[in-house]
Amino acid sequence: MLVVFATMAMMVASIVMTALDRVASYANHLDEERSRETLVGAIQTFEHQLGATLLDYTAWDDAADNAYVHKDMAWMISNFGDMTFDSDLFDVAIVLDAAGNPMMAYSDGQPIQGGAEGYLTPAIMKLFDKVRFGQSGRVPQALGFIRTQKGIGSAGVALIRPKSGSIDRPTADYVYLAFIRHLTPLTVERISEAYVLPGLVLMPPSSAKTAVTISAPSGEKIASLAWTPRAPGDQSREQVAPLIKAALVIVTIYALLLVIIGNSEMRRVRADEANAVKLAQTDRLSGLLNRAGLTQLLEDRVRRGRDLNEDVVLLYLDLDGFKEVNDAYGHATGDRLIRAVAAGLSVLVGEGAGLARIGGDEFGIVLNGHEAKERAFALASSILAFFDEPILLGERTVVVGCSIGICVSEGGRVEGGELTRRADMAMYSSKDGGRGRWTVYDPRMDEERESRNQMEIDLREAIGRGEIDVVYQPVVDAKTFTLVSVEALARWTRRGHGPVSPDLFIPIAETSGLIDQLGLCVLRQALRQLRDWPDLKLSVNVSPGQFRDPAFVDHVATTFEEAQIEPGRVVLEMTETYFIQSPDRARLAMERLRSLGLRIALDDFGAGFSSVGYLRQFGFDRMKIDRSLVQSLDRGHRAVEMLQATVALARSLGIPVTAEGVETEQQAVILRIAGCDQLQGYLFGRPQSPEQIAAFMLRPMELRAKAAELAFAANHDGGLQV
Ligand code: C2E
Ligand code: MG
Ligand code: MG
Repeated sequence: MLVVFATMAMMVASIVMTALDRVASYANHLDEERSRETLVGAIQTFEHQLGATLLDYTAWDDAADNAYVHKDMAWMISNFGDMTFDSDLFDVAIVLDAAGNPMMAYSDGQPIQGGAEGYLTPAIMKLFDKVRFGQSGRVPQALGFIRTQKGIGSAGVALIRPKSGSIDRPTADYVYLAFIRHLTPLTVERISEAYVLPGLVLMPPSSAKTAVTISAPSGEKIASLAWTPRAPGDQSREQVAPLIKAALVIVTIYALLLVIIGNSEMRRVRADEANAVKLAQTDRLSGLLNRAGLTQLLEDRVRRGRDLNEDVVLLYLDLDGFKEVNDAYGHATGDRLIRAVAAGLSVLVGEGAGLARIGGDEFGIVLNGHEAKERAFALASSILAFFDEPILLGERTVVVGCSIGICVSEGGRVEGGELTRRADMAMYSSKDGGRGRWTVYDPRMDEERESRNQMEIDLREAIGRGEIDVVYQPVVDAKTFTLVSVEALARWTRRGHGPVSPDLFIPIAETSGLIDQLGLCVLRQALRQLRDWPDLKLSVNVSPGQFRDPAFVDHVATTFEEAQIEPGRVVLEMTETYFIQSPDRARLAMERLRSLGLRIALDDFGAGFSSVGYLRQFGFDRMKIDRSLVQSLDRGHRAVEMLQATVALARSLGIPVTAEGVETEQQAVILRIAGCDQLQGYLFGRPQSPEQIAAFMLRPMELRAKAAELAFAANHDGGLQV
């Protein structure tokens, strides 16, 4: 910028100075021309003056009388010779006879000593001849510049004659007069002053621009008059140049200031812009990069990876249980948790890697360069270890986990957007796999996702078309084995695929929000069915997702009203996850449901965290022991003892216990002895259609006999290991 400016300033200065030079030299040139014309005129005037003087002296009756009649030499001397003294008109006067011989020769008022040869040069004799032979035109007089012994001068020769012009004598008697007027220094000085030609000097012939050449009649150059040029242009320039220079300097300084101010303004704008970009790419809460920042970073790293054939790895983190902390302790604590996690991750990630908070509780880490993949795996493990420890937030300690998805762009061949999508998918796979783990992206995940998406679409349609069936699994009294209740279980026969396990479609319904419709549809069908079985009770499963719908309890109430079923006959089964995640809201929902007259069972006890504390805290109406716990009974004493202890604890809290997944008679006996009052499992009946349940109810004698048989065996055979 400065270089451009300097070049321009120099160009402008040089143009201005060149223009000034041109004006000056043109003015000089004009003055020279004028001086030359003046000097040429002055030289001509000098010659003409001599011509005029000579004419006065020669076309004169007195002179003619004295030359031809009286032949009076004394008159000639006093009128011609003496006149040469200190005269401004001529300084040499020579009277010549018709043959050209001098009859009188005077210079500066004195007779010329030693003959007049020094003045009667061939040039003047040529003028004489011109006059003598009548070649001088109308007037017998000839003029021209000559060189004499005294110097350069104007010379003239004329015939002495009366004014009338006719001489009544033979030409051989003719008398001539020659005058010379020399260009003496004094004369030159006078010309110089009169014509304002400073420094005028006579010099040998010169071709200088400031000189005018004086030539003899023969054309020979005999001298030059040179003057000192006044160079008015130079003078003007000298006067003006400092002003113009000053103006140029001022303009330059002004422009320079503009450039400097402009530059600093531009730098400021650029800095502002950079700050704005940085701000737009920063997450305010954590101070890390935000999603836009991560996108930009990934783009840069992937491009670099492609250039250097380097791997780029993206780790996608999602906290497990963040929402619960937020719900339980409020957003301020949630924010503190995010900041604490951001700080922890910054330390673990270290320099060189990129760390961003992508959204709510999601973080992204970008690694590249040497062994990026291996470093990413090690980092993922240390991040999981970090989350193993409780996090201290002021006076509070919270426990959260983290699910990680990892995707590698080998040699930068996978673009940033796709890399993010894949890492996100791998993260979800970690979530699905049970959280608190890291998973590397596998192309099969895309297929799974695709088939899951398709299943979701089909399930939505199936619900819409009323294609969800309900089957009922018998629940029997532990002592008598009589049917006391049924558990309603959803069934879906997918068009073109066949039956789909609830373990598959229920989670899809939960994540897609379809569970609200599906749950109510099952409840509606089951309640309608219950009208046919006035002696039975009913269990219906409820997902945590349904609780999140604020209108859930109202929907349930309406459904009961529509079906006209006494809510006291129905137990809602819930797993503990919702009670762990949102204890307060769960408690509220439970209270409202119970106020309708419904009872709540804790389903699948023993499958997850299974804290007895929940039983006590929430006051469940029933506990259902998970089938995994029941089936572990086959493995020996410890399992049996654990089960006994669990059931005993529930009973001590006044909570009746149902055992699920009872498949063998042995299990049934143990469970009964342990204190379970209801049993459910394939031993008694698989989930079945309403018609089959109706048939089931017709077999009470058969079941009771089996129960009695088992009771007898337990007491007498000892074959059962209890
Ligand atoms: P759940 O509520 O624990 O239901 C009992 C599951 O154990 C049923 O599986 C049943 O078929 C199975 N089962 C019963 N006895 C035995 C046995 O002796 N041996 C074995 N191996 N399994 C036995 P199903 O029907 O596949 O249901 C699986 C889970 O799907 C249910 O577990 C429940 O959590 C969920 N589910 C089913 N229907 C619904 C529904 O309508 N709403 C909601 N929210 N969840 C449902
Ligand atoms: Mg259940
Ligand atoms: Mg269960």
